[in-house]
Amino acid sequence: MEQIKCLILGSGPAGYTAGIYAGRSGLNPVIYEGLQPGGQLTTTTEIENFPGYPDGVDANEMMDDLRRQAERFGAEIRPLIATKVDLGEYPYTITFDDGSEVQCLTLIIATGAAAKYLGLSDEEKYKGKGVSACATCDGFFYRKKTVAVVGGGDTACEEASYLAGLAEKVYMIVRKPFLRASESMQKRVKENPKIEILFETNTLGLFGEDGVEGVHLVHRKGESDEKIYDLPIDGFFLAIGHKPNSELFSKWLEVDELGYIKTTGMTPCTALKGVYAAGDVADPLYRQAITAAASGCKAALEAHRFLQE
Ligand code: NDP
Repeated sequence: MEQIKCLILGSGPAGYTAGIYAGRSGLNPVIYEGLQPGGQLTTTTEIENFPGYPDGVDANEMMDDLRRQAERFGAEIRPLIATKVDLGEYPYTITFDDGSEVQCLTLIIATGAAAKYLGLSDEEKYKGKGVSACATCDGFFYRKKTVAVVGGGDTACEEASYLAGLAEKVYMIVRKPFLRASESMQKRVKENPKIEILFETNTLGLFGEDGVEGVHLVHRKGESDEKIYDLPIDGFFLAIGHKPNSELFSKWLEVDELGYIKTTGMTPCTALKGVYAAGDVADPLYRQAITAAASGCKAALEAHRFLQE
């Protein structure tokens, strides 16, 4: 069986940065791209807060740059998805969606996180027919139409602003009486005449013949002035946060109550020798591209140190 010195799962900022550092340390890293090559950033538009880009940078362009940088230092990139891991015996064995199996001496888990849904049966019913968790992927279909974005964080504001550039009207469905997003993001949506924020509002369901034609909403649920009403919309976008992609590993590694892989102190080290968790899969707090990149760097440094010992 092929034996890899440093196997990296995931191709977001954490995975590619781990690849850059591991490559420069002579570990011949192999990066398995996973479900979403380039990671979550490829579903956004512009990155304005990654140091080194004073004028902002297109998200896909930045991920291409990181990929090329990892390849420049010898990282091999394979377009496969891990389906099974066996961390019970060292060296560890990983199985991929093409049926291939490899062994690895060190494993960097940088599998990121995935968008959360509300859990309504209608979300499944209308998935791909008006329900989406990615405005930049699907916004194009809603030119001059009416859409709603659920959530009040930075992602929701970003998605609403992006959609406002295409759609006729954008509603934000926010369960609290305020937005959680940063001041600058809040300002951006509040000043956009196409965006209307529906505070203290929850979604009960969706309706429509072949696709979404509207949403059932409740305002001030459980209060004396509770109001249930329908709002006609063509698209329903989720932006309520993410859950870590840690299912494959939870049998072998400790995860917290939300599923984030637990690491030791300030390091990406897990309780298993040679296994590291970097980026959003292990970060319930910051979840930024730059913090993910930094933890990918730390993981590669730890892997190098471990192999030297
Ligand atoms: P957040 O966790 O920050 O926000 C999630 C939003 O969804 C909150 O408004 C939350 O409401 C709402 N929500 C969660 N669950 C439900 C539910 N079941 N029903 C209705 N509403 C719900 O997630 P984000 O994805 O927005 O951001 C994650 C991190 O990424 C943050 O640290 C953010 O700052 C960062 N980020 C930064 C960007 C930038 O700087 N350009 C862009 C995008 C993200 P409530 O407030 O009531 O909990």
